[in-house]
Amino acid sequence: METTTAKPYVIREVPGKGKGLIATTKIRKGTRILSEAPLFKLASTQMPQNLLEALILAELHNLTKDQKRAYVALHNSYGQETGVKPIVGIAKTNVLIFNPHKPEGGLFLDMSRVNHACRPNAHYSWNERTGRLTVHALRDVEDRQEITVSYITQGKPRQARQEFLRDCFFFDCACELCSLPPVERDMSDLRLLEVAVIEDQLGRGSGSFHYGRALALLWEMFRVLEVEGVWDQSIPKAYFVAFQIACMYGDETRARVFAERALEARVSMEGEDSPEVVRLRGYVEHPSLLASWQLRAKCPDGLVPPPLMEGEVDDWLWGDMTPEAAVGG
Ligand SMILES: [Zn+2]
Repeated sequence: METTTAKPYVIREVPGKGKGLIATTKIRKGTRILSEAPLFKLASTQMPQNLLEALILAELHNLTKDQKRAYVALHNSYGQETGVKPIVGIAKTNVLIFNPHKPEGGLFLDMSRVNHACRPNAHYSWNERTGRLTVHALRDVEDRQEITVSYITQGKPRQARQEFLRDCFFFDCACELCSLPPVERDMSDLRLLEVAVIEDQLGRGSGSFHYGRALALLWEMFRVLEVEGVWDQSIPKAYFVAFQIACMYGDETRARVFAERALEARVSMEGEDSPEVVRLRGYVEHPSLLASWQLRAKCPDGLVPPPLMEGEVDDWLWGDMTPEAAVGG
C-alpha cells in the first residue's frame, strides 16, 4: 500500500469552499501526503503592484502552457473593487511564506487547494533542505475525507481565529471547531486561553521561579492540550519548551524524555528529512548542544526523578502533579 507514489488525494469541488483535497484512500497518521516543489518563488508579495506584476510575468514566462493554465485557474481573493489585477491577486492569495520571519514565499499548485480547518487533520511545512513543501497527516484521514491544514500558526480562541482568517484570508471559518455548540465552544476557548497564559508565564518566568512550579505549569499545559484534543505543531513546540526548562534546571533525565517526545512528534508531522527533525535529533543524542545546558544548575534534590520504569513514563515524568499545583505557587 505504501509502495505506490500515486497521490493519495484528488482535487475537487468542496461545497462552500471552492476546490479542496479529498483523500482517495485511508491515510494513516504520520504519512507524507504531499511533497511539492514551488512553481516559482517570490522574494515578497508586499511591493508596488506594477513591480510585483513584472516579477510574476517573468516567472510565468518560464512555465509550460499547462502550468500557466493551472496558475490562472487558482483562487483569487482580490475582487475587482480592490484594484488588484487578477494575475497579481492570484499570487497574493496563494503564495505561501516559507518562514514567518521572512517575506519570501513560493507558489504551490496542489498546496494552494488545501483548505483551512482550525483543528486540521494535516500539517504543512516548508523544508529548506529539500526545497519542497510537505503535508503530513496529523491523524488518520478516512477515504473520501477532506484533507485540511491550519493557516494559523498558534492556537487562538474562536473570535481571534475568525478575525485573523477574515483579515488575512477573507473568509469566515465554519470548521468543526468553530461550529461547536456555544457551551462547548466556550469551553474550548477557555482551554486555548489557558494554554496561551501558561506559555506566556513559562516564556517570561522560567528561570525565575522554582523548578517544581515550572513542572506543574508544564504538566497543566499538556493536560489541557490533551483534553482539547490538540495534536499539531503546538505539541512538539511545547515539548521543546519543556526540554529547555529541564535543561535550565539541570534535570538531564526529564530533558532527554522531553526532547525525545518533541522529536517523535516532529517526525510524524514533517518526516525524517525535516531540518527541525535533524536539529532535535542532535539534542536527543547530545543534549549539551543546547547553550543553556552549559549553564545548568544542580537539579533541586526533591525533584530528581527516580530511574525510569517501563510502562509508567507519565507517572515517572510528572510525579504527583495536580491542577492545584499548577494554579498555586
Ligand atoms: Zn475554524
